[in-house]
Amino acid sequence: MPLTVLAIADEVSRTLYDCFERERWKSVDCILSCGDLPPWYLDFLCSSLTIPVFYVRGNHDGGYRSSEYEGSQNIHGKIVNFKGLRIAGFEGSARYNGGPLQYTQREMSHAVHRTRLSALRAGVPDVLVTHAPPTGPHTGADVCHAGFDAFVSALNGWKPQLLIHGHMHHYDGAQKPYRSGATTILNAYPYKLLQIPMRPQEVAETKTASAHLSIKRLFAHRHANRMVGLTSRDR
Ligand SMILES: [Zn+2]
Repeated sequence: MPLTVLAIADEVSRTLYDCFERERWKSVDCILSCGDLPPWYLDFLCSSLTIPVFYVRGNHDGGYRSSEYEGSQNIHGKIVNFKGLRIAGFEGSARYNGGPLQYTQREMSHAVHRTRLSALRAGVPDVLVTHAPPTGPHTGADVCHAGFDAFVSALNGWKPQLLIHGHMHHYDGAQKPYRSGATTILNAYPYKLLQIPMRPQEVAETKTASAHLSIKRLFAHRHANRMVGLTSRDR
């Protein structure tokens, strides 16, 4: 069964706050926040839906303290396992004025490398949640909106099915998802509702040894063609 995930970034959505309808979102399993959002918004969604929020901080989130928000977990530099889905997170943006939560390419490379060591024990992530995009089609022209090369390396090594980022405000909806190898790269701004298929191993674990092999082959094929269902968006 796929997980239903609500990804959010950068802007408090009227649909998810002023006009919030609990019934509409009751099938959501967890929230992935890509940063630059006020803590009370995460708290509101977490408590209204009584589901966990896994978040990274954006370059405007210097005031956050991870311990304040019950049900919310800062996943920067970590790999968390939620119902069998492994999720890794990386906060911040490219360094542009020396403020908090800004990283040089080298610093982010170190952060990714440290998480690689964690992945040896925890397993490689299925989903990356980042504030800034990977270097590529979703990056901006200015220094602040540059992408991180380290995310591209992480995608090449881990081959997650999905990278969700924020930081890029595209009010006209022009920033479409794109594929890089096995991964779909998606701008969450201001929110996206996603169906994320579970990793093959999670399904195979319930099967016999012989079935395990066939299921692994089946999913190896599906992994190459995997699509993320995008069902909602607002401005
Ligand atoms: Zn930002």
